[in-house]
Amino acid sequence: MDYDVIVVGGGPVGMMLAGELALADVKVCVLEKLEATTPYSRALSIHPRTLEIMDLRGLKSELLKIGKTLPTGHFAGLETRLDFTVIDSSSNYSLFIAQSETEKALELRAKELGADIRRGIDVLSVTQSSDCVEVIASGDTGQITLTAAYAIGADGAGSIVRKQANIAFNGTDATLTAVQGDVVFKSPPKTTVVSSFNEKGMIMIVPVSKELHRVVFIDPERNSIPKDEPVTLEELRSGMIRMLGDDYGISDPYWMTRFGNATRQAERYREGRLFLAGDAAHIHFPAGGQGMNVGLQEAMNLGWKLAAEVKGWAPEDLLDSYHAERFPVNTTLLRNTKVQTLLFGTDFSPTAIHLRSMISDLLLSPDANYRLASQIAAVDVQYNVRENVSSHLLNGRRLAEIKLRSQNGDVFSSYELFREGKYVLLNLASDKITETIVSNLQHQHFKFASATLSDQVNGWEDVHTALIRPDGYIAWAVSVAEADVISRIELGIKQISRG
Ligand SMILES: Cc1cc2nc3c(=O)[nH]c(=O)nc-3n(C[C@H](O)[C@H](O)[C@H](O)COP(=O)(O)OP(=O)(O)OC[C@H]3O[C@@H](n4cnc5c(N)ncnc54)[C@H](O)[C@@H]3O)c2cc1C
Repeated sequence: MDYDVIVVGGGPVGMMLAGELALADVKVCVLEKLEATTPYSRALSIHPRTLEIMDLRGLKSELLKIGKTLPTGHFAGLETRLDFTVIDSSSNYSLFIAQSETEKALELRAKELGADIRRGIDVLSVTQSSDCVEVIASGDTGQITLTAAYAIGADGAGSIVRKQANIAFNGTDATLTAVQGDVVFKSPPKTTVVSSFNEKGMIMIVPVSKELHRVVFIDPERNSIPKDEPVTLEELRSGMIRMLGDDYGISDPYWMTRFGNATRQAERYREGRLFLAGDAAHIHFPAGGQGMNVGLQEAMNLGWKLAAEVKGWAPEDLLDSYHAERFPVNTTLLRNTKVQTLLFGTDFSPTAIHLRSMISDLLLSPDANYRLASQIAAVDVQYNVRENVSSHLLNGRRLAEIKLRSQNGDVFSSYELFREGKYVLLNLASDKITETIVSNLQHQHFKFASATLSDQVNGWEDVHTALIRPDGYIAWAVSVAEADVISRIELGIKQISRG
């Protein structure tokens, strides 16, 4: 076999997956048809949960150096923005950063960890047998055939992996298109984000880089133009004048395009040895800036599970839990992007304007705002836990960063424990018994840490020991009040590996 895993497609999701697999010492390659990262960035915003997973792997600080942070996100461009600052997270903000920069950072990391990144390779076919996957591709040197134990389709909306695996892509075609232009402004707007909705249409303007701004609008008179019809500078200028009354001295278009609201989801994310992730698994109108974010979160979910399988210690049902956990999350995502499209893309009548202003008013209520902010930030995702673990409020939730104190008194971040991509067994009771159980265990598929809480943290006050998954979700927590703490911990550790 040439590789353990072949990742088809080296966009953000493919590169993230390659990094996660290489981190676990899996022999992985990425086959990407583009010779270099595309300079045209679709995604511009990274949200709190994605920033947290980047932080878990030590990648966040690099991205922060390049991008620009903003304390809010948005839902359907409503006037009341979503307040991320109230989210219980050390990444309670959006990061504006061009997708190309995110992709470059992820590619570099994957390479440094030993992934084989093969560019200029167009995958033509992907087939599987009972014991391997065969990929046929064309490149500079002609046609090549590669084999691997598994393959992942991270090859975007038109995924060849999805098609060849005969996985249905259920949903609806586009009913409207929006216009987008990355341009230079002679007199840029004073605010970081401009957002307006009126009877002439919906428009948003955000920064792309020091030089460029992105203009996106839905013009009711032009929203049935097909996606592949080129956008002109004049179309952008006149739309801005109509909807905003200002063109900010627009010039020098860097990239102009149209995109639609086709909404589809793969019926299943796994077919035998083949998996789907990112846009290959789901597409939707890019409302609220969520597509790349969820794709990266999926890569975090699938990476360690597939690595555990390749290394031979995954429990029987671990690989199937990828679809079981992520499909419902993305069903909700597709629902929220459809609702946003209804709110800002289809009806520009006075009633629609009133509806928006009513919802905008409701979002002034902190509870309502928090509910939507957590959804867009993806911090509300919670997974089911195994049946016979102790019940605890933290089970299945994400680990928000907490500060810990080591036995020698140093304060450190809980996220630092996740750099190696392993399970973390966190003992907060400073007892020697847990340490002894751990040292007697046959398998060591986790990192053991004994520490105390540096500050009081809601939900953690009674925790004796917690096991946290490599992707930062709490597998279980055992309370000090539990009758038989030690056997609970022993059982909980046994469950994470096969046999
Ligand atoms: C206008 C717009 C704005 C957006 N803004 C945001 C945002 O702010 N935030 C956000 O989170 N998301 C946003 N998105 C969505 C985001 O861009 C996508 O969800 C993201 O790019 C998906 O990443 P991916 O790696 O799954 O797929 P892609 O980025 O599509 O990458 C797939 C890769 O596979 C390669 N490939 C395809 N077929 C083959 C083949 N046969 N052989 C070899 N290689 C192949 C392609 O060349 C490509 O590099 C936006 C989308 C649009 C259209």
